[in-house]
Amino acid sequence: AKSEGRKTFAFYRQELTEQSRQRLELDMALRRALELGELRVHFQPIIDLGSGQRVGAEALVRWQHPHRGLVPPGEFIPLAEEMGLISLLDTWVLEQSCRQLCAWPHLGFIAVNISSRLFCRGELDTQVAQILERTGADPQRLELEITESAVMDDPDAALDLMRRLRQLGVRLSIDDFGTGYSSLTRLKVMPVHKLKIDQSFVSGLAHDSADLAIARSVITLGHSLGLKVLAEGIEQPEQAELLRQLGCDLGQGYLFGRPQPAVDWPSAAA
Ligand code: C2E
Ligand code: CA
Ligand code: CA
Ligand code: CA
Repeated sequence: AKSEGRKTFAFYRQELTEQSRQRLELDMALRRALELGELRVHFQPIIDLGSGQRVGAEALVRWQHPHRGLVPPGEFIPLAEEMGLISLLDTWVLEQSCRQLCAWPHLGFIAVNISSRLFCRGELDTQVAQILERTGADPQRLELEITESAVMDDPDAALDLMRRLRQLGVRLSIDDFGTGYSSLTRLKVMPVHKLKIDQSFVSGLAHDSADLAIARSVITLGHSLGLKVLAEGIEQPEQAELLRQLGCDLGQGYLFGRPQPAVDWPSAAA
């Protein structure tokens, strides 16, 4: 049994080494991708459910890999977070998004994802201020999407940072709302503008009464706190109609448009 234990250990060690070698390689490739300009920002429309108008967009990063094609963020964001590259990546997306805001004067806003790792470093306000100054973008048209976990790691520091960001004029939203553990007491004092209902609750909306109840209560909660509510991952007209009836303000999903490069956006919408 002893030698078997040792064998298992040796096997594990080999596995780990192989895994960390792959991770290091991917990390290096991603750093190079940033330098070589292989990263792309796609924009997905955000719709006012009442009027049906495009009012904003969410910036979503992709990696245009020379051999692998367009790599979705799910395949490299977690690694970038682990290896610390995410802050560089997120600030790059921020800058691209601010430039796009200037190119699209008729679009209401662009929302950018902020990794909890960058958020928890606490100097995000300084970086955002620099990017706004460099690009000349209107801070009121920039929205930062943060997750509940970023806030709950160190709630006091998070609140502090959120207030400083608000002083710059940018707006804040809570992404994937309902999938984390944010306390309602905290939510009440947080200077956010918007809650984004996670798509896991939207997909079952038309046939799952629990999902419907959750969506309804998030909308009611958000509105009672004076926040806008957005539903993500809307794919079917019935979902959009139900959400509109529930009073949900904004929607996003394949029904309205997939994430696309800025050049493919209809010029009238921007
Ligand atoms: P997220 O922030 O929740 O973004 C929404 C995801 O849902 C996007 O996936 C989007 O393409 C997808 N989506 C939109 N509408 C629909 C729909 O109708 N149906 C379905 N099934 N999916 C829909 P994507 O682009 O693959 O991004 C995945 C996640 O990667 C994002 O989830 C976000 O957490 C992260 N991410 C993307 N870009 C960035 C970035 O620049 N920085 C950071 N830190 N994270 C990013
Ligand atoms: Ca998001
Ligand atoms: Ca989301
Ligand atoms: Ca999500």
